[in-house]
Amino acid sequence: MSLAQNFATRTRRMKASEIRELLKLLDRPGILSFAGGIPDAALFPKAEFAEAYAEVLAEAPGQALQYSVTEGYLPLRRWIAGEMARIGLACGAENVLITSGSQQALDYLGKLFLSPGDTALVGWPTYMGALGAFNAYEPRYDRLHIRTNRPAEDYRAAAEAAGGRVKFLYLSPDFANPTGETVDRAGRERLLDLAEDLDCMVLEDAAYQSLRYEGTPVPPILALELARKGDLDACRTVYCGSFSKTLSPGLRVGWVVAASTVIQQLVLMKQAADLHSATINQMAIHRVAEACFDAHVDKVRAAYGARRDAMLDALERHMPDGVTWTKPEGGMFVWLTLPRGVDGADLLARAIEEKNLAFVPGRAFHADGSGENTLRLSFSCADAPMIEEGMKRLGALLRAPRT
Ligand code: PMP
Repeated sequence: MSLAQNFATRTRRMKASEIRELLKLLDRPGILSFAGGIPDAALFPKAEFAEAYAEVLAEAPGQALQYSVTEGYLPLRRWIAGEMARIGLACGAENVLITSGSQQALDYLGKLFLSPGDTALVGWPTYMGALGAFNAYEPRYDRLHIRTNRPAEDYRAAAEAAGGRVKFLYLSPDFANPTGETVDRAGRERLLDLAEDLDCMVLEDAAYQSLRYEGTPVPPILALELARKGDLDACRTVYCGSFSKTLSPGLRVGWVVAASTVIQQLVLMKQAADLHSATINQMAIHRVAEACFDAHVDKVRAAYGARRDAMLDALERHMPDGVTWTKPEGGMFVWLTLPRGVDGADLLARAIEEKNLAFVPGRAFHADGSGENTLRLSFSCADAPMIEEGMKRLGALLRAPRT
């Protein structure tokens, strides 16, 4: 008898992420990795955090080391509410819940909205961590057509035929992981119309929103909905923010902005799951954010923006005909489409073996297992010479005959 016999049925859908397994291989000396989509540790505001933790522990050690409220540290929630107002999303602290990264929010939102067999609309491709979070709630996935129209009725009929309802559409509208693409204002309005027609939620993952390197910011979907309805409590969009890509992912601090009814339900879930996110981390983040958020984000944007430019430039020079790629205005990723018949996973095996080079094959980002001839490149942790050498090797690999 195996122990696994005792596992709940929901674990059948919980598979090891291809990226995690892959990252284990990347300790090889000298490997040029464009795989991990993580911030550059060299950019963390280390001195500011050292000072913030020291101050918090000196001034309020009892509070910092104690249990606290599930909703989150009130001064931080107020600071976030102020930030949200700056991007057109006026809300009160009561509409903000602190989570342990936005990843936790995705898990809770899956738990809140999905019964087994319900439909979640996601892009093909989409953030694989969202699929990982939702999988435990046993949804059916359908392809969200983000830039073209598909009638609401088609989505509805397919969901009902599968025995459930469309509960939400999920997307990362700014500089998405994995494509780097941004949905324009008209596209966001169209998605809101679709959600109205389907009477479902919109989960807006804003993990990369602050990382814009060019162009004009597009209002968050929740801001557009708020402008339509004038009342946050009437809005069906749930906005998930994060400090991971701006200040630090290790502290695990993110947030949700949503209608009070949604926040209240999420609070109950968080209470049952982990009581609250780490008090001292919330207090430290609050201090650092108050002291230098804008200046720090400017610094991060300048660094990543230069790396994006270097990657787009190197791709232009080194990719053979038949390879296309996205031109992201922000974020950390460029998405490549290879000629039909070239398999990203096979290419990775050869890249590691022959060129000491790594990236993420695109299939893992597709809920239906398609996307063979795609791959994701991350430029966040690479300097210009590494990017130049990496893209040169990738170009050579794509030109070399397959053995
Ligand atoms: N959403 C997207 C699109 C991401 O890429 C990530 C991290 N890779 C997350 C959410 C989760 O980030 P965190 O939990 O650190 O906020």
